[in-house]
Amino acid sequence: MSEITLGILGGGQLGSMLSIAAKKLNIKTIILCDDQNAPAQNFCDEFINAKYNDKSKIYEFATKVDFITYEFENIPFETLNELNKLKTVSPKPSVNRLIQHRLAEKDFINKLNIRTTRYVHIENKDELLPLEDFLPGILKTTTMGYDGKGQYPINNIKEIDSLDIDFRKEYILEKLIKLKKEISIIITRFSNNKYEIYEPIENTHQEQILIKSKIPADINEKIFNQSKEWAIQIAEELKYIGTMCVEFFVDRNDNLYVNEIAPRVHNSGHLTINAYNISQFENHVRAVCSLEKITIKKISNAEMINIIGDQIIPYRENAQLSDKQFFFDYLKTEIKEKRKMGHLTTLK
Ligand code: ADP
Ligand code: MG
Repeated sequence: MSEITLGILGGGQLGSMLSIAAKKLNIKTIILCDDQNAPAQNFCDEFINAKYNDKSKIYEFATKVDFITYEFENIPFETLNELNKLKTVSPKPSVNRLIQHRLAEKDFINKLNIRTTRYVHIENKDELLPLEDFLPGILKTTTMGYDGKGQYPINNIKEIDSLDIDFRKEYILEKLIKLKKEISIIITRFSNNKYEIYEPIENTHQEQILIKSKIPADINEKIFNQSKEWAIQIAEELKYIGTMCVEFFVDRNDNLYVNEIAPRVHNSGHLTINAYNISQFENHVRAVCSLEKITIKKISNAEMINIIGDQIIPYRENAQLSDKQFFFDYLKTEIKEKRKMGHLTTLK
């Protein structure tokens, strides 16, 4: 059997976990990342430290691999597009471009007749003033946001001046919904109507950062089925290849809304490593390397907590774990406030 090499753009914890999954399948990984301290260099077979627009390094990377994927969505479209001329990039660059842009993403979802929160495009401050109807709301940058970065909660029009919003950027203003809970669906699509889908995962956020995920989600049957149907519909419409995540809101009247799509493996799916026979990472590697699809099976219910900032210290020093607990240290060299440093999954 010829040996496969997978190229991954991005070297954070998702790149690490993709590399580990690939190794299990005898697939080599080469990671290109702009951070010289990228934690995934501890897990991949070869590491290239370069900017995502460094043409010669990008070319070198492409010549060394058979397939290409990425672990985070903010890779320049140009880079993905150029790479795709040399080796197959999955998910395809046009999918990433669509989802990278909150406005295009939400327009796309609404065209499929799938519910999202109400939103409006904002290009300057004057456009905000007549929008009382969307308040309380959240102003979000159309591009480059994650973990609540680039977001401004706005309760009333009077607040706008005090918020110091950078109007050189474009935004959407989204009406705040009265959240009952948040769930996500992880789906891996291999080809037309060929996919594996995990059961809905219930997520808890604190200050817009995910702190806990669990299965089963405490939701009714209608939401259970609707969330899966919508995720399948989105993946099919995008002709998506690989693992993606759809994040949902459930409001106090049990209405379901799609919040956003992540065109990659996702933090809420980390529990699939221990709770399923095949993790979201292995499924991603299988799909983007054109390997066989295997039917997934849940082994156990589970709960995952993110270990943030200096919460990692006691785990590093003295983690006393039961045989149902799995601790993962992302091996980030610097501890920062609000930085995801590791996670702990407990089988239930
Ligand atoms: P990011 O790209 O940073 O993940 P999200 O749009 O998912 O941004 O927002 C992060 C979190 O903020 C959500 O998971 C949710 O907890 C909260 N949030 C965002 N938008 C809304 C909204 N319209 N109504 C209620 N809560 C929201
Ligand atoms: Mg989000």
